[in-house]
Amino acid sequence: MAHHLTNADLHSHSTVSDGTLAPEAVAALAAERGVELWALTDHDEVAGQARARAAALAAGLNHLTGCEISVSFAGETVHIVGLGFDETDPALVQGLADTRAGRLRRAREMGEGLARVGIEGAFEGALRLAGNADLVTRTHFARFLVEAGVCPNTHSVFTRYLKEGLPGFVPTQWARLGDAVRWITGAGGVAVIAHPARYRFSPTAEYALITEFIEHGGRGIEVVTGSHGVADVVKYTDTASEFGLLASRGSDFHSPTESRVMPGELTDLPGSLTPVWQALQDRVVRAR
Ligand code: AMP
Ligand code: MN
Ligand code: MN
Ligand code: MN
Repeated sequence: MAHHLTNADLHSHSTVSDGTLAPEAVAALAAERGVELWALTDHDEVAGQARARAAALAAGLNHLTGCEISVSFAGETVHIVGLGFDETDPALVQGLADTRAGRLRRAREMGEGLARVGIEGAFEGALRLAGNADLVTRTHFARFLVEAGVCPNTHSVFTRYLKEGLPGFVPTQWARLGDAVRWITGAGGVAVIAHPARYRFSPTAEYALITEFIEHGGRGIEVVTGSHGVADVVKYTDTASEFGLLASRGSDFHSPTESRVMPGELTDLPGSLTPVWQALQDRVVRAR
């Protein structure tokens, strides 16, 4: 089969970060949905990678290691996906630990912000839902507020409470772009700009993101993702061609009830692009 037609899903989350399913359950679901090549890309953490690999192989899925690193760039949070790295690389492991370090204090401050508008117990609630105290995310707050009956769904919690300028938003300094890219490439992986259409950048700032990313050694961009519409796929197909970037494909699956796109349920990558997995052939752990 042509490389670009591989049912690759190289962006998904488990209970190790803000997904609702264990790594094993995400692997099983991906296999059931026809995924052939899979990466679990939990936020700022690689602790689920050994479980993900074992489950992938058991389910007949070819596997790449993955993570999604939170980066601050030009006043915006940008996500950089790493694929095919050695998850025991000390600089990567330390970099991710440093990136996670501020999350608990941030979560406390988010709870205080929400308490000021009359929502009590949000920090404790989010922490309980997080499972991993090191990785309390806005998603856990969103789930708690739905559970508490404050909002009907997680999306509306973001719109009403968690986006910039709202009571539950706490500005956070994440990793630097160059550091995140170097942690990934230094560990033998490929760095990919996640869901580029999600950022509120001017064309100038977007150009700066892409060119600086490439200068630091970044090589890929998500073209087909759960958060891209048809026009976004067209736009970032052009971007990938123009900048000579490898193209990635991933659902950004978090939960069967919250995610718009299930694992592997994505359109194919355009045949004109080079899939990121073509450059990662020797990093894939094959099930068969
Ligand atoms: P954090 O890293 O704690 O800022 O949380 C970011 C996570 O929140 C993302 O990875 C998404 O899973 C989730 N998220 C961001 N925006 C939205 C939204 N509008 N609706 C639902 N989930 C969102
Ligand atoms: Mn997430
Ligand atoms: Mn993301
Ligand atoms: Mn994601």
